[in-house]
Amino acid sequence: MVVKSESARVVLFLGAPGSGKGTQASWLSASLGIPTLSTGEILRAEAKRNCSESFQLRQLLGTGQLVDDATVCAVVAAWLKRENPRRGFILDGFPRTTAQAQYLDALLDELHLPRPTVLHLDVSTTGILRRLTGRRQCAVCGTVYNLVSKPSLRGSRCQKDGGALTQRDDDSEGVILHRMEQFHRMSAPLLAHYGSSVARIDGDREATALADEILDTVAPGRTRHLAAA
Ligand code: ADP
Repeated sequence: MVVKSESARVVLFLGAPGSGKGTQASWLSASLGIPTLSTGEILRAEAKRNCSESFQLRQLLGTGQLVDDATVCAVVAAWLKRENPRRGFILDGFPRTTAQAQYLDALLDELHLPRPTVLHLDVSTTGILRRLTGRRQCAVCGTVYNLVSKPSLRGSRCQKDGGALTQRDDDSEGVILHRMEQFHRMSAPLLAHYGSSVARIDGDREATALADEILDTVAPGRTRHLAAA
């Protein structure tokens, strides 16, 4: 019989676009000292390459449609093989379908990692649109800003390295509404799949208060470290 690593943790964020999953995942990653896998980040990096597959991927991401299960599962498997995160890891943006959740269950069993703690970041739709249309990202280092809630001290340039701040192709209003509708349609079966392992977190609060509750849920008693966001 194989004994699963007791100290390893797998944490998974479920939340609508703009719910703050990425920020919370990076803070939790710093506090627990385990890496984060963001499927959106990896797919966007893939889409920037100069080949016909990347061109197709770029078009798909730009319209806010989901990438097919086989491609995303292959991305996750390749990352896990490369990183070999024995102490666990955090997932941001995966799984998004029941097929992906089943794939993840099998993968975790294979790696002798525990089943995930699922954090459902529940945020009202009010304000999400405003948050997302104000989101900007440094084209050089990837730091995320917000024109309203977290502007760069250097205006339209990144305050860390002066890189141009750009808007994601899928952060336009029409595409955001489509992504939100898609999230609500797809999250119900996922919540059902995880059942009682889901912890609902009220996401309509200040980000650091949220981070405290998240850390307390995942690792009671641990002190929070804020990563350079
Ligand atoms: P958001 O949560 O704001 O939609 P992400 O960065 O998580 O942003 O994802 C951006 C895009 O990447 C998605 O709209 C989708 O096209 C693609 N994507 C990311 N993760 C997955 C996944 N697990 N399955 C299918 N598509 C995905």
